[in-house]
Amino acid sequence: MHDGLVAWLRAAAERLHEEAPALTALDQAIGDGDHGINMDRGFSAIVSMLDGREAPAADADDSAATVDLLRQAGRTLISTVGGAAGPLYGTAFLRAAGAIGGDHATTAAVYVAGLEAAAGGIAALGKATEGEKTMLDALYPAARAARAALEAGGDLAAVSVAARDAAQAGSDATIPMLATKGRASYLGERSIGHRDPGATSSALLLATLAATVSPGD
Ligand code: ADP
Ligand code: MG
Repeated sequence: MHDGLVAWLRAAAERLHEEAPALTALDQAIGDGDHGINMDRGFSAIVSMLDGREAPAADADDSAATVDLLRQAGRTLISTVGGAAGPLYGTAFLRAAGAIGGDHATTAAVYVAGLEAAAGGIAALGKATEGEKTMLDALYPAARAARAALEAGGDLAAVSVAARDAAQAGSDATIPMLATKGRASYLGERSIGHRDPGATSSALLLATLAATVSPGD
């Protein structure tokens, strides 16, 4: 799992760098135009952290190494990103780290536990729930779809693809929503008709994760 996590974080940093102008354009419409910059900065800092750290010893416990890396990634986001998204995503990573240690039957079950905890962490810190036009509108449906796929016997690839598709649909569903949390809420009715930047970056992160798990799908 540790090496998969590294591959995902590096791939996500590349995708967020490519998509930074598009994410920033979305945030220009209903926020302050920094979401792409924030995500790019945070994930570049994660790549620097990865480049600068020693790889775990060959005989290290994989689950413990994964938990440790998720924690470091979360702390990096919190300390390097000024906007709302840094602390929110950082907390998501820290919560995921807290949920994935311990007893899980499969890596698919680890994924679902991590995603559920991540969404819950963002909801708690942001005092937000679904339907408020935030990243939670991608992450909660993704977590539910992932849980359903797991319960249907899905493996890690099936679970991550289910999460990817639900997150994309959830991001699409933010367009007609009225924002009631974050900067977009200052616009009131004028927030309607625009895709939420955070839901977009969440869908991108889960799409990248699915691609890392099952390349080519
Ligand atoms: P800022 O709003 O500080 O400029 P960003 O532009 O990086 O930060 O991130 C904005 C995104 O953060 C929004 O599109 C939304 O998805 C998410 N967001 C903002 N406030 C909250 C909140 N209270 N709860 C959950 N998500 C939030
Ligand atoms: Mg912003």
